[in-house]
Amino acid sequence: MRHTSPTISFESPEGAVCYRLERAVYLNLTSRCSLRCRFCPRFHHLWTVDRYYLRLARSEEPDVNTLVASARDAGACEERIFCGLGEPTMRLDTLLSVARALRTDRIPLRLNTNGLGNLVHGRDITPELEGRIDHVSISLNAHNAALYERHCRPLLAGSYEAVLDFATRARDHVPRVTLTAIEGLEGVDIDACARTADRIGVEFRVRPMEATDGSAFRVR
Ligand code: SF4
Repeated sequence: MRHTSPTISFESPEGAVCYRLERAVYLNLTSRCSLRCRFCPRFHHLWTVDRYYLRLARSEEPDVNTLVASARDAGACEERIFCGLGEPTMRLDTLLSVARALRTDRIPLRLNTNGLGNLVHGRDITPELEGRIDHVSISLNAHNAALYERHCRPLLAGSYEAVLDFATRARDHVPRVTLTAIEGLEGVDIDACARTADRIGVEFRVRPMEATDGSAFRVR
């Protein structure tokens, strides 16, 4: 872990630990991910969202104290969101510890995730989110497994089914669960994605196609 002081990392030459966009504060835990989405900025050599550089080497991944202090240093906000150019649940213990610490601030906490936490960790992690996370936003990105494979290039077999299962289980432990899909992704039927969300009993939101500044990524 690189940080021992709670210095906020806005516009740092290293990857930012914490960044503010509009009325939300984002926490960047890792650049690691279990997907290789073709539309992800990182696969277009873009590691910047708005003016924040987000690439974190493994050795630069922030510890719990740094994340908590950075979130608080960022000041008042309407929501705190776990989201980087990587998958937050890859660092599940850190995510849960930070969420537990920040609960006392009474600011809603959202997890933006690819929904593969259960598959990666080999167990159902959704009960561990209970009482810590207020909203889970899950990237569905396709209405069937074949298109998901094509656009998201998962590292693990059975990923599409795992995302659906994660959303179904999360619904029982988190007050608000949303599936999302990107408008304009070739072959993807947005209405069918919405019907999937409806069948599971969660919310659905359409995200815009990625812009070069990474603006769409932050709402995944
Ligand atoms: S899940 Fe998110 S971070 Fe991972 S490759 Fe896809 S868009 Fe990028």
